[in-house]
Amino acid sequence: MEYSSKKLEKQWQEYWAKNRSFEPSEDFTKKKKYILSMFPFPSGRLHMGHVRNYTLSDAFARYYRQQGFNVLHPIGFDSFGMPAENAAIKNGSHPKTWTYSNIDYMKGEFKSLGFSFSKERELATSDELYTKFEQGFIIDMYEKGLLYRKKGFLNWCPSCNTVLANEQVIDGTCWRCDTSVVKKDMNQYYFKITHYGDELLSDLSKLEGGWPKQVLTMQENWIGKSNGLEFRFSFDEASLGRLNNKFDGFDVFTTRPDTIYGVSYAAIAPEHEIVSYMIQNSLLDDSVREQIESMKNASSIERQKEKSGVALNLHVVHPLTKKSVPVWVANFVLMDYGSGAVMAVPAHDERDFDFAQKYDLPIHAVIKPFNSESDDTKAFTEIGELFNSESFNGLNSKDAQAKIIEHFEMLKIGTRKINFKLKDWGVSRQRYWGAPIPFVHCDDCGLVMEKKENLPIALPEDIVITGEGNPLDKHPTWKHCKCPSCGKDALRETDTMDTFVESSWYFLRFCASPKNWEDEAFSKEQIAYWMGVDHYIGGIEHAILHLLYARFFTKVFRDLGYISFDEPFERLL
Ligand SMILES: [Zn+2]
Ligand SMILES: [Zn+2]
Repeated sequence: MEYSSKKLEKQWQEYWAKNRSFEPSEDFTKKKKYILSMFPFPSGRLHMGHVRNYTLSDAFARYYRQQGFNVLHPIGFDSFGMPAENAAIKNGSHPKTWTYSNIDYMKGEFKSLGFSFSKERELATSDELYTKFEQGFIIDMYEKGLLYRKKGFLNWCPSCNTVLANEQVIDGTCWRCDTSVVKKDMNQYYFKITHYGDELLSDLSKLEGGWPKQVLTMQENWIGKSNGLEFRFSFDEASLGRLNNKFDGFDVFTTRPDTIYGVSYAAIAPEHEIVSYMIQNSLLDDSVREQIESMKNASSIERQKEKSGVALNLHVVHPLTKKSVPVWVANFVLMDYGSGAVMAVPAHDERDFDFAQKYDLPIHAVIKPFNSESDDTKAFTEIGELFNSESFNGLNSKDAQAKIIEHFEMLKIGTRKINFKLKDWGVSRQRYWGAPIPFVHCDDCGLVMEKKENLPIALPEDIVITGEGNPLDKHPTWKHCKCPSCGKDALRETDTMDTFVESSWYFLRFCASPKNWEDEAFSKEQIAYWMGVDHYIGGIEHAILHLLYARFFTKVFRDLGYISFDEPFERLL
């Protein structure tokens, strides 16, 4: 018999739709499976990567239905984001029109591919209803101290007048207009993901066996927990004078306290407050100042490639030997890691070694391989046996690390410290097509949360998008509002949220019965039944960002009392 795809598939697609074949049951006594594919960005057309993922989840869903499970297999659209805005700039289309017409088209593609998705739970994260609940969560997180606003150094394109994500800086220039990107010190909202650093790390063990090992390792490295010593380098008398006694020194962190006797210089970031002070007070020669400015204007990726630096003509005192140590500005020291200052041990760190060779700085070896002599033509970065280290000579690195930290603590000149590579998550974007951050700036009250009954704070539809500046800020009326606290004239926050916020909780929204969607984001009972996701299917490119953020939100929602589990995704494919 001939297989007439056009006729047969249409017939079955109609049957499935009429019989609600893929809608999950609300009978929570049944055994369940929650099968989820990472939802797509509505770019316009499905690509083969999508088809691969949805075919996998569809096979799981159909298999478990046949086994008698109550199966939740939903789909939605991660529909905020820059591509919609860029299409608007290019073609003059409205981001909303562009997005929702793409969604319609892609829904048709899902249907003709025969995927067994729940129709009734389809959603787009740019739906105002979704924004409403998300803004509510943002307010809850702010009240809990998990969201804060502070100044930070961000990538800024002076031509586009917007902040760029690190991924949007290509060889130091703007991905869109090729202008050199600069670092700009500006206000930004941050989620306090570092508050969960320890738990995000230790709970990875709960995912072993369910998640690919590679993803667990990538998350572990990204969180980057390290134990070490923090101490303060104090300036010598001459340097104190040069700095008008404004600074007595600066803090550094090291994971290798066993190499402390090998310190031959200290390096600070070009953005360090001491450097800024020297520039502002004309304490540096023009040529030095210019070199520092050009370091600041390079992207962090560039700064890791070619090492460069300049001496500040300042000296600190070695905390143990009391010898004088020169202070350099070095481009590889980043302000957003640790304190923005490091002790440099060229004999035992490759980066410090290259820098010392380039600028002819001394190299003092203090660790040698067990049972052999040291080789001074390159950095010896492994653990070994200490020498040239006063009373610590002969110890192995591990013992010496513990003993040297104890020694610092006894002398009260330093402390044991745990450091994370993980940084707080900067979530504000100067873009139109995103969820508005629900805050108001009032001259009298400062930063004020919007009242929950006023949510959603929706985007205005009459918007002009040119690609320059923040469209919401330039809108003639949208930002003008009344202060929710005192009622006086105030200004709405015009930054919108990073779209990774929406994808951090959509899997919880799918658990909610659509008949309650207007009233609540989700219910505890429904969540308790459906979560965790039994099979989560998506690409390895999400190994860090999305999967880490979703784990973070899960822990936050648990601590806010909305849910009662620690991890969202049991098995990841
Ligand atoms: Zn640009
Ligand atoms: Zn006010």
